[in-house]
Amino acid sequence: MPQIREVARVVEVRETVEGAGVRLRRVFGHRDVPLFDPFLMLDDFRSDRPEDHLAGFPWHPHRGIETVTIMLDGRVEHGDSIGNAGSIGAGDVQWMTAGSGIVHQEMPKPVDGKMGGFQLWVNLPRSHKMMEPRYQEIRAADIPVVGEGTGVTVRVIAGRREGIVGPVREIVAEPDVFDVTMAPGAVFVHGVRPGHTVSAYIIGGSGRFGALDLREYQCALFGDGDEVRIGSPLSSLRFLFFSGRPIREPIAWSGPIVMNTREELEEAFREYREGTFVRAR
Ligand code: FE
Repeated sequence: MPQIREVARVVEVRETVEGAGVRLRRVFGHRDVPLFDPFLMLDDFRSDRPEDHLAGFPWHPHRGIETVTIMLDGRVEHGDSIGNAGSIGAGDVQWMTAGSGIVHQEMPKPVDGKMGGFQLWVNLPRSHKMMEPRYQEIRAADIPVVGEGTGVTVRVIAGRREGIVGPVREIVAEPDVFDVTMAPGAVFVHGVRPGHTVSAYIIGGSGRFGALDLREYQCALFGDGDEVRIGSPLSSLRFLFFSGRPIREPIAWSGPIVMNTREELEEAFREYREGTFVRAR
């Protein structure tokens, strides 16, 4: 018999301002550490006021983490210190492994007056914090869709669902990252590894999570077990599902840089000031 995971904790979004003045909803972040380990932060930047986003995220460094941008609407133009430049649009995903260091900018551009998506930060363990920076940029059309027509439609960004493996590969946390849409009356059942952190953030409708009825802008963190069940008895439901292996190391976090010790943080910011932050390749 599978051990079904119960909801251990529910967090709610709170409004915050980031970058050069972008208003967004933070699902979890700094003050929730280490609850979602290996995940550090989740931001929801959907907006019906796209003008809120135009200031964007001008040049800034990252080290020691991965940032995952999942786009729903609009476009984000990006450029960085290792020579990448481009733009990601509706349905696309960018999985950026900052590793030893990237300096980049991320500038939102509304399309047809719409702008929105999510950014998830995944921590790197001590053994990988200084790994070579890397991008995996996935177009919407290259993200497999599993279960279409069954009432439970799953876009498999990373990990495995019904034998289908998502296009984002070789991530230290061994994550599942899905975008799940459910019709009224459907049930999502998914096997997960015991000990891994498992969470679901509702981005539309409402659903039944164990004994709890949850709705948009709420995020469920599951307790341990080897199976997750989520129902949508009354309405449609859409959520981001993410799981990963916890790191369980000390966290020293300042802004866009997350290391293990204060000394490593200070070193990173000193290198940034002195222009030696980005390693030669
Ligand atoms: Fe960034």
